[in-house]
Amino acid sequence: MIQSYGGAPAMIRSFAPELPIVGIRPHLIRERAAQVIDRFPGDVLYAVKCNDHPVVLETLHAAGVREFDTASIKEIRRVRQLLPDAVCHFMHPVKSSEAIAEAYHVHGVRRFVLDHPREFAKIVQATGSAPDLELFVRLAVPGDGALLTLTGKFGTGPAEAIELLRLAKSVAAETGVTFHVGSQCLTPVAFERAIDIAALVIAEAGGVDHLDVGGGFPAAYTGDEPPFAAFVDVITAAVERHGLECRLQCEPGRLLVADGASVFARVELRRGAALYLNDGVYGNLAELKWVGPQFPTRALSVDGQRHGRDMAFDLFGPTCDSIDSMPGPHWLAADVDDGDWLEIGMMGAYSSALRTDFNGFAECHTVLLDDGVWFALEPSHQALPQAA
Ligand SMILES: *Cc1c(COP(=O)(O)O)cnc(C)c1O
Repeated sequence: MIQSYGGAPAMIRSFAPELPIVGIRPHLIRERAAQVIDRFPGDVLYAVKCNDHPVVLETLHAAGVREFDTASIKEIRRVRQLLPDAVCHFMHPVKSSEAIAEAYHVHGVRRFVLDHPREFAKIVQATGSAPDLELFVRLAVPGDGALLTLTGKFGTGPAEAIELLRLAKSVAAETGVTFHVGSQCLTPVAFERAIDIAALVIAEAGGVDHLDVGGGFPAAYTGDEPPFAAFVDVITAAVERHGLECRLQCEPGRLLVADGASVFARVELRRGAALYLNDGVYGNLAELKWVGPQFPTRALSVDGQRHGRDMAFDLFGPTCDSIDSMPGPHWLAADVDDGDWLEIGMMGAYSSALRTDFNGFAECHTVLLDDGVWFALEPSHQALPQAA
């Protein structure tokens, strides 16, 4: 049973443990999922790797997400055990034969992604030449415009994709084309460019049943990010311009869950403008380093909130590795002190999912919160006056 609290300050006042805390706000996940499902003209899958906490998966399911983008057999088992009526799609282009066989025969998975002829052969063999496969070919697309690029590892060029689709059509019940423009993509036109490539491939292959535009839709960390609707408009226009008849699918991770959780880390030592926390890059806060200091952050003492954002801090995690630093500017009240808690908001995505036990710091608490969003998004808040 996960403890539920009315709000973050009350939780810190009455709980304030030694370990870091992940605070999930299911009502925000529910709202976001409803918006995305309402807005997107096709199937909405959730990319499980982003956050696979049972509360997150159950909340998304209750909000109407019934299909899941899974990338490992463990993710598939986890989703199917928790949500027996959920449909899993195996969207990783490189899978083990054992994982394909279990996915198909035990968990009812029919949709598989591939980007190489030998992966095609592997899927056919591992499923015993199943007649009801849905095979999607992953295209390589440009990654510019995304904060975290996913290019260079998966996906194939147009010529090979056309060949793979011909192979797929020779055995599969349904076929599709898929791509991923990169995570936290800030330019809707990236989807237009990707759809241009996909349309060419689809035309040459004589049509497909599905077009999967992937994930990459940005969460609103600063308020400068284009809204989901802007991406949908660009996608819809490109699909219409090319006269594509296929069913649309998207697989957001970050967009669906980013605002649905905060991480609470305690200040174990303040040294000038440096705060040493009990959570860091090897724990729940990896994105504070890799994406940068753009997450809404506030300081809470056990007596209440420390108001003001008048000083820029650098943050350090608990492990002994010097990589475990999260350079600022993290704007906080100047009177932050030892024993205070930092609430880092917008931490529902790629946060607890990336936590490791390095140096013995994996443990943390998870609580539920039902307060609203406490930060006002200020466009370009990183351009605040510099501390002296
Ligand atoms: C990670 C991933 C996603 C989700 O990406 P976000 O940037 O979190 O939206 C979707 N599809 C695939 C294939 C992925 O690997």
